[in-house]
Amino acid sequence: MIAAPQIVWLRRDLRLADQAAFHAAAQAGPVIPVYVLDDETPDERRMGGASRWYLHHSLESLQTDLARHHSQLVLRRGRAVDVLCQLVEETGATTVHALRHYEPWWRKAEEELGGKLDLVLHDGNYILPPGTVTTGSGTPYKIFTPFKDAVFAAVDGFDILPEPSLSSPEDWPASDKLADWDLLPTKPDWAGGMRDFWKAGSRAALDRFEEFVEVIGDYKQDRECPSIDGSSKLSPHLHFGEVSPRQLWQVIAQHRSHGARFFKAELIWRDYAQNLVLQFPNYAEEPYREGYDERLWRDPESDEQAADDLAAWQQGRTGYPIVDAGMRQLWQTGWMHNRVRMIAASFLVKHLLIDWRHGESWFWDTLVDADYASNGTNWQWVSGTGVDSNMFVRIMAPLSQSEKFSAGDYIRHYVPELEDLDDPYVHDPEEHGCLPAGYPAKIIGHREGRERALAAYRAIKG
Ligand SMILES: Cc1cc2nc3c(=O)[nH]c(=O)nc-3n(C[C@H](O)[C@H](O)[C@H](O)COP(=O)(O)OP(=O)(O)OC[C@H]3O[C@@H](n4cnc5c(N)ncnc54)[C@H](O)[C@@H]3O)c2cc1C
Repeated sequence: MIAAPQIVWLRRDLRLADQAAFHAAAQAGPVIPVYVLDDETPDERRMGGASRWYLHHSLESLQTDLARHHSQLVLRRGRAVDVLCQLVEETGATTVHALRHYEPWWRKAEEELGGKLDLVLHDGNYILPPGTVTTGSGTPYKIFTPFKDAVFAAVDGFDILPEPSLSSPEDWPASDKLADWDLLPTKPDWAGGMRDFWKAGSRAALDRFEEFVEVIGDYKQDRECPSIDGSSKLSPHLHFGEVSPRQLWQVIAQHRSHGARFFKAELIWRDYAQNLVLQFPNYAEEPYREGYDERLWRDPESDEQAADDLAAWQQGRTGYPIVDAGMRQLWQTGWMHNRVRMIAASFLVKHLLIDWRHGESWFWDTLVDADYASNGTNWQWVSGTGVDSNMFVRIMAPLSQSEKFSAGDYIRHYVPELEDLDDPYVHDPEEHGCLPAGYPAKIIGHREGRERALAAYRAIKG
């Protein structure tokens, strides 16, 4: 008897290796891999523009990988639960396999789908399944460091699943054409810089990791310096699941350097963020701490100056070279260096006193690695509104951060108005009296911004 087809429902897990849903489906029967472009289920959290651009290339790469296995990718558009029920009816598939996802809208969709058909959920997008690392008394961790220590203690290597061998159904269901989904921008085509910067897909992710492993010994210090290519740049690959964190961990399992341990700790940050969202599903949308309400913030919707400041921040025209370089790198490439993300985010929230959620939503639209959990967790961390003890009143000084982390070459690269300025002038041309034509003066002085933020905080805290 021919086994019934098995559907593999793909979301942010666009790979074949170490993909438990593919593995289980392949053992049970012919496999129909399906990606549903669903703008309805996430509602307000529809994927942003840069992510859609990346998704196009990631799906294209998965199509190539599946073709190597004489398989195909079925593309459908609509509400995922409805589309999958329809596909089960069309194909006679008995089971839908998927990796678990933890965004609140996916958890609801998984519950609904599980009530309608045989849905088998598997783990595999995190180092350890979210929710499984708990304190001695069985409660989830809220703070990063003990969580990280617990993950290190729990992990003792991984068995990585190989690419499965796939058999095809007798008939393939109809598929949309990827090009018809209009995921790529055309009018205007703003993706030129991103095309130069990224190559999507599992193969590209593993190649990039191989290059990075050559310099991983220096990661601890180099990752802080935006002028050096010192971090892995794997975040969109990990976000879209083209590679699993366990595959990366396993490659460096035997590396004893500080760099390798630090890199594993950064991967744990990704798990940590997801664990927080599992505990607090609205973490990316609501401040965890009470008292950070609208009285603290300048509102760009009702305050014209705040609206202009927000626009200057988005466009990289604040007069703070390190902030502007970061925001322009983000716009051009869909990615920003981690240290600069912290500086730019802190500048928006504290110097400009604009609610972190405006920044979170700009990042959501412009990052190729935009991730509900990681983005929200980091914005709350920078703002001091989250679960940890980082405080709103600790205010980063962008100009000294720029010097401390040797950002000169980075600034000259992304802010062409400043390309002829040497260090130390490039960090603060206004202060040094060499502001070039075409580059703005600071939209607010450092001391002024700092004092305004502290005064606003004191006012709401009494
Ligand atoms: C305000 C702000 C917003 C952010 N938004 C996102 C986001 O939407 N998506 C995202 O993936 N990261 C986000 N980060 C975290 C971090 O900046 C990026 O993961 C990192 O810059 C990606 O570059 P990389 O791959 O070279 O990182 P590496 O230094 O090579 O780290 C390896 C991997 O570890 C994970 N990682 C590293 N740092 C963090 C972190 N602080 N939090 C969570 N995971 C981490 C990422 O998956 C990363 O690819 C944000 C940070 C800040 C300060």
